[in-house]
Amino acid sequence: MSGHVLPLAGSGDAWAGGAVTSVATCLLAPNPSPWTLDGTNTWILGDRDVVVVDPGPGDPVHLQAIRDHLESRDLRVCGVVLTHGHLDHSEGAREFAESARVGVRAFDPGHRLGDEGLVDGDLLTVGEHDVRVIATPGHSRDSVSLVLPHDGSLLTGDTVLGRGTSLVAWPDGTLGDYLDSLQRLRALVDAAGLSRILPGHGPVLSNPAAVLDAYLDHRRARLAEVEDVVASGVSDASEIVAIVYADVPREVWPAAELTVRAQLAYLQGGEISGRGGPGVPRR
Ligand SMILES: [Zn+2]
Repeated sequence: MSGHVLPLAGSGDAWAGGAVTSVATCLLAPNPSPWTLDGTNTWILGDRDVVVVDPGPGDPVHLQAIRDHLESRDLRVCGVVLTHGHLDHSEGAREFAESARVGVRAFDPGHRLGDEGLVDGDLLTVGEHDVRVIATPGHSRDSVSLVLPHDGSLLTGDTVLGRGTSLVAWPDGTLGDYLDSLQRLRALVDAAGLSRILPGHGPVLSNPAAVLDAYLDHRRARLAEVEDVVASGVSDASEIVAIVYADVPREVWPAAELTVRAQLAYLQGGEISGRGGPGVPRR
């Protein structure tokens, strides 16, 4: 993984999941696509009592693979956690949680099962391990990241991916929130001495500071490009995509268009912040 300081060209490392540390194991869901890269990463955190993060799509084969993994290692699942509500992460959550007789904790009440939510600053105790919840809106309004301080790991969901860059799912996600969240994670990497990113899709990244710097640089560079194109008189989002994202495959242009719409809203000051609460204009 070293050498992939800039994730923008995409990590070429093969990725099939597996044990990453003594308390973090990835089970890769079989849903690869241009949108989901190698597939959704379902993370098992803990070493005896565990939480299952993002059970993934509603795929019975994958859900059974999670159950088989837990059973074969005599792991006791004490809860399900969602990094956000996009279906490729959340669709199988309820079925899995019900079969394991545990709840689903999520930022968005609509994705919860049981009474417990998931808000910024929550500390989850998983066996002998602490998992800290950091609200990181931007990719979506309900995105959270998880910090395993003693493991040096930062689990980012779709806020940071193992290949390429993520999208801002406008209008649910906003660029201002996304930039704030990246900066927050960047500061946290230094403050907590974090040494790896466990992403929602794609391979583990062992250079979190460099990755987050590159993400911030990339977002700002794209924003400047969009600003230039708008200044030249182009205002239609799909036309802006064709110019600014000419270098990315056409199949991901719909995702790029959401991000362009987020960029246009940011430039026009028309965002509604996820962190600031409903109805709070960003600027
Ligand atoms: Zn997502």
